[in-house]
Amino acid sequence: MIKTPTEFTKRNEPFFVLGNWKMHLRASESARIAKGLVSTAKRVQGKVTTVVFPSFPALEKVHTQVKKSAVQLGAQNMSWELDASDTGEVSAEQIKEFGASWVIIGHSERRLKLAESDEMIERKLAAALLRGLQPVLCVGESALERNQGRGLLHIMHQVESAMRYVQPQKDQVITIAYEPIWAISPGKPCEPADADEMTQNIRQVLIDRYGVKPAYQHFRILYGGSVDANNIASYLRLDEVSGVLVGSASLKIPSFRAMLVKAAQLRQSLVKKRTHS
Ligand code: PEP
Repeated sequence: MIKTPTEFTKRNEPFFVLGNWKMHLRASESARIAKGLVSTAKRVQGKVTTVVFPSFPALEKVHTQVKKSAVQLGAQNMSWELDASDTGEVSAEQIKEFGASWVIIGHSERRLKLAESDEMIERKLAAALLRGLQPVLCVGESALERNQGRGLLHIMHQVESAMRYVQPQKDQVITIAYEPIWAISPGKPCEPADADEMTQNIRQVLIDRYGVKPAYQHFRILYGGSVDANNIASYLRLDEVSGVLVGSASLKIPSFRAMLVKAAQLRQSLVKKRTHS
């Protein structure tokens, strides 16, 4: 259990609710959902930051719906190259052209199905920071690694290796999403106590590498894996968890909205508690 000076516990910012739409939606469907989130995102702004990650072909249409709104936009992947003969790849600059300011890096589906290596992820993370995109680095252990008692070592290795070239500057913030692979739906949700242990260990890796203050100033940690409106609060209550990365439950307007409202209510009650104590 890490003992953190209270001024550093959780970054002093809203909760983050990030929707990863993977390859599930057509561009028109993505735009419709994004439009459906605009009023709720505005209502919860200040308590919750809302970010959606459509697939590349939907970025432009979604941007049209969310520009000038409280909904922020991200891409699900990027190349580490700036300009290269790399067929099928998309650069940070191309992503930014469509209004995206966030990018997911190293999602387990890419690591597993597309053989994305630690080295590729290191390079992507460094490139995202260099190009001014806010990276969401995904880390997570498989069921086998967990059952063999290697889960924690695996996560620590993923974080350390991704940070190899990273020395965060001034106001840069790197978001790390702890997503146990076995908990990504249709897997079974991770017990909050287990997510607590893993996210504390991730913070410890960052503290060991960068020191306490930078580990909180430059990094936020999210949880992802079968999060929905019923269980979101149990993860957001964890000391090291500042938000959630959500797949399935972000694909429908009502469930996405319900998560935003739950997160905002919790944020409000935590702020009240803090001012009364
Ligand atoms: C994900 O794959 O990033 C994810 C968290 O998915 P789900 O919420 O569907 O488990």
